[in-house]
Formats: sequence, C-alpha cells, structure tokens
Amino acid sequence: MEEVHGFDLLKIKSDYGLNFYQQVKLVNFVRREVHQCRCYSCQNKFQSKTELTGHMEETEHITLLPPRLIWDQPQYYFPTYENDTLLFTLSDSDDELLVGKRKEDVPVISEDISNIEALKRSSVLNQLLQQDMNNGEP
Ligand SMILES: [Zn+2]
Repeated sequence: MEEVHGFDLLKIKSDYGLNFYQQVKLVNFVRREVHQCRCYSCQNKFQSKTELTGHMEETEHITLLPPRLIWDQPQYYFPTYENDTLLFTLSDSDDELLVGKRKEDVPVISEDISNIEALKRSSVLNQLLQQDMNNGEP
C-alpha cells in the first residue's frame, strides 16, 4: 500500500495554534468526511474510499484544510467512532509544541524526537483512512 503523507497533525496543530479541543474537533471532522467518502478540503463526494484517496492525493487536497469555521464546531466534539484510538494520541498539553521549540536548544535529544515525530506525522492520515475502512463497509 502506498504511504500517504500530508495530513500532518502536529504541523497543523502548531501552524494553526490548535488547542486540545480544536484538535479533537478537527480529527472528528476529518473522520466524518472520510467516512462519508467526502474530501475534507473541497467537500466533493466520491463513490469509494479509493476514489477519495486518489482525488486527495492528485489534487493535494490531503494537505489542505477547509476554513476553521467549517470544522471548529461543537458537533465535532463527539467522535465518529467509539474508542477512537487516534484521539488518545492527541496531547492535552503543549508538550509536543514545546519539544519542537526545544529542538534547537537541545540538540542531544533532537534526533530521537524528530524520528518519533516524523513517524507520527506520516502515520496519522494512514491511521485515519485505515481505521475508517475497517469501521466502514466491507
Ligand atoms: Zn478535494
């Protein structure tokens, strides 16, 4: 399976300055859109997850978030799935951001941390899509 890079939650989090609850809403929003075979960026609907992923990779919509107004809504506090494991990986503090900032100051630990972060980053969208496929239609 081709690796999907692009949905960079940590980068989004720091670029947009998202707090924990906004991350939760964003993840739930993305999940709901993907679950409905809809591109979370342009809101186009597709027949299958494969078409959707194809579209998102082709157009690089995978890296584009819709305006915050669209996903920063109270309804997205609630997970699309029970026991959404991705939500547990979210941080309720700014630890990750601090780690990112500290990198320059503390080169000794930077390598290990950036490996972990890179791993996390590249796997978030895969997680989203795969978990959704497991939860969705056969
Ligand atoms: Zn799109």
